[in-house]
Amino acid sequence: MTYQGKLLRINLAKQTVSTETIPTDTIRKFMGGKGLAAHYLYNELKPGTDPLSPDNILAVMNGALTGASASNCVNFTLASKSPATGTWNDSHCNGFFGPELKFTGFLGMLIKGAASAPVHIHIEDGEGTIHSASELWGMDTFSTSRLLKERFTKDRTARVLCIGKAGERKVKLAGIMSEGRMAARGGLGAVMGSKNLKAISVVGHERFLPADRAGYDRIRKAIAKQIKESPSAVQSRLEGTPKLLMSVNSVGGLPTNNFQSGYNAQASNLSGEALKEKLWDGGRRRKPCRGCAIQCAHVAVIDKGPHAGIVDKGPEYETVGLLGSNCGIMDPEIVAVANYYCDYYGLDTISIGNTIAFLMECRMRGLVSEEKHGALGALDLRFGNEEAFLDAVRMAGRGTGAGNLIANGVRDASVALGVGDEFAMHVKGLEIPAYLPRAAFGQGLAYAVSDRGACHLRPWTFGKECFEKALPATSAEGKGKLVRDGQEKNAIFDSIGVCKFITQGASVDDILALFNAITGFGMDSDEFNLVGRRVNVLTRLFNNREGFSRKDDTLPGRELNDVVPDGPSKGNVITQPVLDDMLDDYYAVSGYTNDGIVPISLKKCLGL
Ligand code: SF4
Repeated sequence: MTYQGKLLRINLAKQTVSTETIPTDTIRKFMGGKGLAAHYLYNELKPGTDPLSPDNILAVMNGALTGASASNCVNFTLASKSPATGTWNDSHCNGFFGPELKFTGFLGMLIKGAASAPVHIHIEDGEGTIHSASELWGMDTFSTSRLLKERFTKDRTARVLCIGKAGERKVKLAGIMSEGRMAARGGLGAVMGSKNLKAISVVGHERFLPADRAGYDRIRKAIAKQIKESPSAVQSRLEGTPKLLMSVNSVGGLPTNNFQSGYNAQASNLSGEALKEKLWDGGRRRKPCRGCAIQCAHVAVIDKGPHAGIVDKGPEYETVGLLGSNCGIMDPEIVAVANYYCDYYGLDTISIGNTIAFLMECRMRGLVSEEKHGALGALDLRFGNEEAFLDAVRMAGRGTGAGNLIANGVRDASVALGVGDEFAMHVKGLEIPAYLPRAAFGQGLAYAVSDRGACHLRPWTFGKECFEKALPATSAEGKGKLVRDGQEKNAIFDSIGVCKFITQGASVDDILALFNAITGFGMDSDEFNLVGRRVNVLTRLFNNREGFSRKDDTLPGRELNDVVPDGPSKGNVITQPVLDDMLDDYYAVSGYTNDGIVPISLKKCLGL
């Protein structure tokens, strides 16, 4: 197999499947993953398309590195126009599905149309087929995955992605689950649901053949050695992503009680150390992605008490921050139970945690009552009330009681309750991840200008601002360039098919060397970086075309108006003038107009 993979096109309305070769120059310009998905969607999706209409396109796309035996080469992209935000949306997943898709001979697929009844797609060795999924509809994600794996595993284990009941109901917080991992953000599960597509399974036998075998082996081994010697990777292996929690809390960045504060006095209950001991058998219960040398992924097992029998991957830092601290839930076991139900029904834990915390604050302010709000009012949602919290999570999954109000996210909930947007913590309709913007203003800017709404992965500037102290955390100084550079770097990672944690043991130069050894492209760092810029600009172009501009690049009122009341970030507030300064700076260094629009000259210069 070479990198110049094939593309599978599936039309579910017409029940047709076809194959085409992706031109090499297109691959060179966009690489794969996010970049290639953005290329196809920008060119093939009509502006103004309803995200839940059959016309929306779902892209499943690998990168050059997906499926390589080198550590962390497991990432694949799911992309579509988002039902949660109306913007471009790419959401990512690691694990096993992407590599197995690579072994079928396809770099990716584009799925259009909607089936008239539930279907599942199976891809095996260069061929895609569409099957009835009537017997799977209504099933949870774990059972769906198990059943399809049993059905299609022969000499190789079949790999599966699927939706649960949340996606079937087309709610905005529905994600796509793949064997314990979720492409959670932006409602892509609802896009699958709108197409009557329950699942995709893959089995492949092609071998992964790098263009330069000797060079590939050399760099693969060097990266493995660097990871082994990296203290950060060692800590990830023991404590997973929650290793961050105490550090984030120590600088006043841990969302607490619906982002009212960034400091939680009981944070140690939810630390990586606490999870390791209480849920992960001292860090030994791991479920790493294929071939990963870091192995950050753990499995929680609850073996006694009312929730005995629950076994699930995680919870990750974001989940602990939002379902835990942000809702005042400080028992890791309860967080693990909530995480399990989100995975079972296929819901985004970041967004569910935000929405429930928002409703808790509404109730505590007297804005929700049983008389006026029926099933929602009947829930005694207060920060820290574990029973009501778990009821709310299960309702969101099942769609019972107040479930659909919760499962459509914080923006819809604030509109439905008529309470305004001041403390509804979202950007463009996507709920905010677990880093308080008022603790790191650049992170706030990153949320404001991200192409899919509030996102910590494009980029995560929090560490640079608060831990490395590369720039003052609470000023506008240098934040435009910091965010622009991070966006472009992450656009590369999201396009080549690598888990971002590879940077715990590999430099960008190492990753470029790996890319060249696999593709034989011989790119220099200028061309490599230019792809990041091109992809980043392309998704802004997509959003400009949908009507998004500076007016949408903003933050919730709480971040701009409310002073942090306590903890290490006490007294911090971003304010509108500071956000305006950061936006001016960001647009200028990115080459956009001061209204956040990509000018035609930049478009042309990048070959878009
Ligand atoms: S670091 Fe974690 S998420 Fe990344 S590939 Fe390894 S196990 Fe998977």
